[in-house]
Order: sequence, then C-alpha cells, then structure tokens
Amino acid sequence: MRYVCPNCFKVADIGEKFCSNCGYDFEHISNEKYAEKLIKALRHPDYNVAYMAAKIIGELKIKRAEKSLIEQLCKNLLNKKDPYLEQVMVFALGEIGGEEAYKFLSENKDKFSVLTRDVIANSLEKIKNRMGRKCV
Ligand SMILES: [Zn+2]
Repeated sequence: MRYVCPNCFKVADIGEKFCSNCGYDFEHISNEKYAEKLIKALRHPDYNVAYMAAKIIGELKIKRAEKSLIEQLCKNLLNKKDPYLEQVMVFALGEIGGEEAYKFLSENKDKFSVLTRDVIANSLEKIKNRMGRKCV
C-alpha cells in the first residue's frame, strides 16, 4: 500500500516516518486531516497526485469523498477524458459510493471510455451489494 505526503504530495511507502522529498513528519497528521488533504488532491493538476489520491481514497474507504469523486469524473468526461484517471475514480466510487454514485455511474456509463466500462460494472455491483444490506 502506498501513501502520499500531505504536504508536497510526493508518493511515499507506508512505514516511512518522514517524507523523502520535503521531510514532513507523517506522524503529525491526523487521519481526519489526511482524508481532507486527499480529497483536495483529487483536483491536483499533477496527474500522478490525483491518481494516487483516488486510489488511496478507495483503499481507505473515505466515504465523504463521494461528491468530490463524482465532480472530478464529470470534469474528466468533459475535458481530459483520461481513461486511467476515470478508472481509478470509478474504482474508488465502487469502494465508497452510495445511492448518488450508483445513479451517476449507471446514467453516464456510456459516456466513459471503453476501458472503463468493466470497472463501472464492477463498481455498480459493489455499491448495489452494500445498499442491499441497508435497512432503510
Ligand atoms: Zn513531502
């Protein structure tokens, strides 16, 4: 599992105590703050940072990133159409998404790149399973 420095966004390995780029002390950041930084990093202009942020959000299951992920996916559909960013964000939505993500993905699935469609099917399935277990 990988990690990004919340200060300079360089990718680090988990277990490293300090950022090898800026020297940031990783133990000084709370999970709460780190989640906040990751959500912000989704909008980072550096592709690698945005990619890593989405991946970690999915792995750590940071639920409140749902809206930001949908927002970024919309932007990606309109502008860059980067299939790799698409895929990792759709993966993250599959890990954390609820009703809103489900609706967004099913309504827009034809607009995504062909490469992303398998990931979408997979994510929709995961969200559906999670929603099915809810008692509301
Ligand atoms: Zn750093």
